[in-house]
Amino acid sequence: ISTWNNVPMAPPDSILGITEAFNKDTDPRKVSLGVGAYRGDDGKPLVLETVRKAERMLMEKALNHEYAGIVGLPEFTKLSLAFAYGKDSQALKENRIAGIQSLSGTGACRVAGELFARFRGEGSPIYIPNPTWGNHVNVFDKAGLEVRSYRYYDPNTLGLDFEGLMSDVEAADDGSLFLLHACAHNPTGVDPTQEQWAELSMAMKAKRHVAFFDCAYQGFASGDPERDAWAIRRFVADGHCIALAQSFAKNFGLYGERIGALSVVCTDAEEAARVTSQIKRIARPMYSNPPLYGARLVAQILSDDALAQEWALECKAMADRIIAMRSLLKSHLMDLGSGRSWEHITNQIGMFCYTGLTKDEVLEIRRDWHIYMTDDGRISMAGINSDNVQYVAESIHSVTG
Ligand code: PMP
Repeated sequence: ISTWNNVPMAPPDSILGITEAFNKDTDPRKVSLGVGAYRGDDGKPLVLETVRKAERMLMEKALNHEYAGIVGLPEFTKLSLAFAYGKDSQALKENRIAGIQSLSGTGACRVAGELFARFRGEGSPIYIPNPTWGNHVNVFDKAGLEVRSYRYYDPNTLGLDFEGLMSDVEAADDGSLFLLHACAHNPTGVDPTQEQWAELSMAMKAKRHVAFFDCAYQGFASGDPERDAWAIRRFVADGHCIALAQSFAKNFGLYGERIGALSVVCTDAEEAARVTSQIKRIARPMYSNPPLYGARLVAQILSDDALAQEWALECKAMADRIIAMRSLLKSHLMDLGSGRSWEHITNQIGMFCYTGLTKDEVLEIRRDWHIYMTDDGRISMAGINSDNVQYVAESIHSVTG
């Protein structure tokens, strides 16, 4: 009898499983709106021109393939932190932000989870929004934290349940750990306003809660990376010692390169050095050290002002195309005579639209129209283009009337 004889079949991943099903579908009309990966209006994956330029520059440099250190490429991490916290960040100037390169946003979340579990206690709680990116629950559970949720989205208004959020912040034990989506909340596309962020920051400060920001869409939400970092910078300015997971998957289109960063704002440089030493201790037995290519690309772009500006334009163009598709989808639904309000399609921001479709409606659309979205009714707007937007609207209209 072998080790594997009685191994049960694991269930498919709730998001990546949708892609697998899509790939197997042979219907020519099929549309993939599951995974949040950007597509151009031609429906194809997009490589940014600035990334192409950086690739050529790297090629010219003929670099070697030695290992990076455990912390990755220091030049990249420095630029990445300035990107999120701001070039003039006081905390950065004071050298009190511990930071390392990570295996994209997921890797940053996992390492942060382990760090919190080690120093706040194995099994200590982390509050995550309801709903949230499907993988958060697994990541923090596996990292050794107890996953709890706080109210975030109100299905009646299809908007933010700010009152519920604030009362859950109030009700949690003092010093609790809260995960916040820095911008373009996944899956709802619903973010607090700046006034609400400021209020939340004050409330969390009063409770001495710890804010852990997951920032997977900087630049992708509004088209302006400075604006999308507003909440992060506000919390730091208010004196929070936040933790931050950054991903360059979406905004730089570097999904498969697994490039991101984990940082922790500390009270002083000496504390930051100690925290960094502990982060390294977690990373070493997990993956030893991170891959170089994505870090080199991002560093090449962010270290060159002209290239960085050109990147910002390209990122904005992606955000703008998504915003344009939101308007088109909404107007097609209205033209079809839909009795429902679809205002939320254009009110929401970022890569996803939380349609409000029920699981049954989602499955009906998958079966009859070969359009694939996650069971919670989330569609990746990036998969919508001029060619399929009418078809997608018709499918939604057919199940909602
Ligand atoms: N956090 C959130 C909120 C996300 O939406 C994503 C991407 N779907 C991630 C983290 C992680 O993505 P990656 O590991 O590819 O950077």
